[in-house]
Amino acid sequence: MATLIDGKKISQEIKDELKEKVAKLKEDGISISLAVIQVGNNPASTVYVGNKKKACAYVGIESLAYELPEETTEEELLQLVQELNEKKEVNGILVQLPLPGHIDEDKVIQAISPAKDVDGFHPQSVGALSIGQKGFVSCTPAGIIELLKRSGIAIDGKECVIVGRSNIVGKPMALLLLRENGTVTVCHSHTADLKEVTRRADILVVAIGKAKMIDADYIKEGAVVIDVGMDRDENGKLCGDVDFESAKEKAGAITPVPGGVGPMTIAMLMNNCVESALMQK
Ligand code: NAP
Repeated sequence: MATLIDGKKISQEIKDELKEKVAKLKEDGISISLAVIQVGNNPASTVYVGNKKKACAYVGIESLAYELPEETTEEELLQLVQELNEKKEVNGILVQLPLPGHIDEDKVIQAISPAKDVDGFHPQSVGALSIGQKGFVSCTPAGIIELLKRSGIAIDGKECVIVGRSNIVGKPMALLLLRENGTVTVCHSHTADLKEVTRRADILVVAIGKAKMIDADYIKEGAVVIDVGMDRDENGKLCGDVDFESAKEKAGAITPVPGGVGPMTIAMLMNNCVESALMQK
């Protein structure tokens, strides 16, 4: 029976540490603010944005909300990003994805100043990560590293397998695990024998977007299983990419959904906001 890796508890610890740090910075006259831009009213995005604002309020970061209508043009959005880049009092800029189809997401991400790129999606941030330089790291994979470290799970020398190669999770996850001296393999939809590869993992990170696809059959006895998925099961209930009930019998440690990786993503966003303010000052 696997040990539960409690992302809710660990993320709370991180937010409490940051709250203290932010209060001290305030005493020194440094206040921190995050601009959060949402275009349209995708219900999932509204929930994510709401959670980010709540976390900002808890930690002591001011959140500046920009709720733009669905029909906002690409030019209008780029103009707003430019204005926020230039505003000294704004430390971080977050554009909630996905954007409506008529807006080129890459163009918008590239318009954000790398100094304010708290999501870590800008090509300069990604490049810095890949060559081991300082820069913002995508919050979900950064949160997973923190989750492992704070749970006392060693990465050095471990066989790490990631399922999924997206720009925001899979690829930066691979670079971060590599930085921690893991031996890293990345799987995707063309991987010939997925089970054969995932069964080699000491640490298995799953970021596919397919409800409960990874069951005990894909897992080596005693492995650490990190479930990034945020999916809906047949009854519309929130679940992960891992079949928790089956996997927990074989894994050594496992993250639940909800309460695993999700809250860590937000905690790391708060951390990036604090870092951005410190760097800019
Ligand atoms: P994505 O961009 O859709 O990428 C999915 C990846 O999974 C792709 O690389 C795809 O391979 C691979 N894949 C799909 N089917 C597969 C299969 N049958 N076998 C092996 N690989 C397969 O997804 P994402 O943005 O990384 O998100 C993944 C999941 O994590 C989603 O459920 C999302 O909601 C969740 N998520 C959660 C958080 C959080 O904070 N908890 C943050 C981000 C994402 P190809 O590249 O070959 O197509």
